[in-house]
Amino acid sequence: MNPVTYSLNIDEKNSDGYYRAISDFTDEVLLKSEESVAPIINGYLDYIKKYKLETPREKEEYILELLSFGILWRTYASTALSVQSAPFITLSKMGEWRKKHQRIKPFIDLSRGILISVFLLPAVKNKNEVPFPSIELIDRACLWFEATGEFREEALRFIRWRGYWGTLHLSEQIKIFSAIAGFRGWFEARAAEALGKYTSNVKSFLSRSRVRYRWREDRISCSRTEAEYHLNMVGAELMNRAFREEFNSTRDTSLLLPGCMRTRSKEECEALKEDKGLKCSGCEPKCRVNHLRLLGLKKDFEVYVIPHASDLSLWSPEDGAAKKGVVASACVTTLVEGGWELKRYGIAAQCVLLDYCGCKKHWHPAGALTELNKTELERIIGRQRN
Ligand code: SF4
Repeated sequence: MNPVTYSLNIDEKNSDGYYRAISDFTDEVLLKSEESVAPIINGYLDYIKKYKLETPREKEEYILELLSFGILWRTYASTALSVQSAPFITLSKMGEWRKKHQRIKPFIDLSRGILISVFLLPAVKNKNEVPFPSIELIDRACLWFEATGEFREEALRFIRWRGYWGTLHLSEQIKIFSAIAGFRGWFEARAAEALGKYTSNVKSFLSRSRVRYRWREDRISCSRTEAEYHLNMVGAELMNRAFREEFNSTRDTSLLLPGCMRTRSKEECEALKEDKGLKCSGCEPKCRVNHLRLLGLKKDFEVYVIPHASDLSLWSPEDGAAKKGVVASACVTTLVEGGWELKRYGIAAQCVLLDYCGCKKHWHPAGALTELNKTELERIIGRQRN
């Protein structure tokens, strides 16, 4: 199958080669971060400890936050800052409502699509230069990031960084933003070499799809740049490393799969509806979800199909109950945002990327059955380190 945007399965055998490549490249990113952004992270950790803002997290999370800031700033700052007024709060609330109220989600999505195109994506953006960050501009951009619904988790984290940067002298801020820009520039160039073969259709997809996605709620999600794909690929690997110890300390596992992995349509699928998602009943022996359900019976994990943009807070550990491990699978453009969200809800999570995107709603006109790498899944569920 010709990939819509990305494919981890470029030799059409399996995606094992991708998992070796992403592990090696993530090692390189971590090494580079030592000489570029490590001092910024150390300063931030001192600030966090001094004001008791959070329990210090793994360094991979902070590296991902800074890299995300660099790439999202470069990609969206000129657009975000060209917006003079918009219903930012209403839009960000609608982004939450659509997760909690699946029944009215189609109506919310229709309204959000129009509001996003009218208010958040003004046509003048391309004429503007990407501005150098400042505290005031970061505040304005974060309103925009949150309102899109695509970058809510990042905005929550950038605002905390902004609190730290706001305590520093202007000359220190300039040094920090220059170091982040340098790290981002290095990353974009190296990622294109190391990961470009997996994302070879992104540019052509973007140039073909501008008109198709206008007015749609998924316009931003489906218009991610190649650099953002690479960011999310490395992001998924960094998150797995950062969250692994906590995940490995759990015993029970739930695997969350997207509906686009089902052989049957949504209407024909005979999965049983439960509070947290759909439980596969095995109605179709060839279905890929059913294969994973059968694997789960052997390897002791349960499988749920969950709709796109579900309420992930449902997976929060219950008071007094043992924490469960959750492994989530989604396509490159949505997985990292979901990972941050699971972390915010205190869920011990790991992720496995879909080998390619293919759902009818967002990507493929006819829909293409998606799949994931079973070796990688079994490695994670088996609580193996590498
Ligand atoms: S096998 Fe499971 S997931 Fe697949 S169509 Fe049937 S019930 Fe749905």
